[in-house]
Amino acid sequence: MNRVNPDAIHAHAGQRRKMVEEQLGDRGIRDLRLLEVMSRVPRHLFTLDSLQQRAYGDTPLPIGENQTISQPYIVAAMTEALGLKGDERVLEIGTGSGYQTAVVAELAAQVFTIERINALSRTAQKILEGLGYANIVFKMFDGTYGWPDQAPFDAIMVTASAREIPEALINQLGEGGRLVAPAGDADKQKLVVLTKKGGKLSKKEIGDCKFVPLVG
Ligand code: SAM
Repeated sequence: MNRVNPDAIHAHAGQRRKMVEEQLGDRGIRDLRLLEVMSRVPRHLFTLDSLQQRAYGDTPLPIGENQTISQPYIVAAMTEALGLKGDERVLEIGTGSGYQTAVVAELAAQVFTIERINALSRTAQKILEGLGYANIVFKMFDGTYGWPDQAPFDAIMVTASAREIPEALINQLGEGGRLVAPAGDADKQKLVVLTKKGGKLSKKEIGDCKFVPLVG
């Protein structure tokens, strides 16, 4: 495994700080651990080389294979909605670039991440291992089935959209757990947060979003 050069990790520190202040803090993200993590995780290393200069902009960006790295604010809003304290086992569907995976891995005990496109999963794994993350388990598969062998999870994050949240994922959410996912039509969705308490689900919507489809 090749470790990433520390200079490459620390590059763009000013842009990262500005992103956190203007795109996250000023828009109501309040979780201080999350803000600290996003001011540190080198988002530019998860983008295509040709787009590194735009990595801290207020937009999603292409990562190849017709997929995207999510807008920083969406990464923050979804992560904050999980209310992570540090001891959770988290399931993520849609590894993509691996950026969201890194943010969650900083805030939870372990991340189980599933991606259906081999090339993306391999690239994300290489960069995350190069950055020294040892608490992420990768799988190439259709994430709509979840990861039954490892269930239940304290938190589940789905980073691709479907009309309905797959039943298998809801079943793999543990008692007291939270699931965040985009749900709705292909061109526009709501970010939905489900909480499981006493075996019952409560649901709230935390904003609009637009994700690539969950294929499966
Ligand atoms: N959070 C990611 C990031 O910051 O890079 C963005 C993920 S991208 C918006 C959505 C990802 O979900 C894509 O990489 C896509 O291939 C993946 N995906 C779509 N359907 C899937 C499925 N059924 N199982 C696993 N991954 C899936």
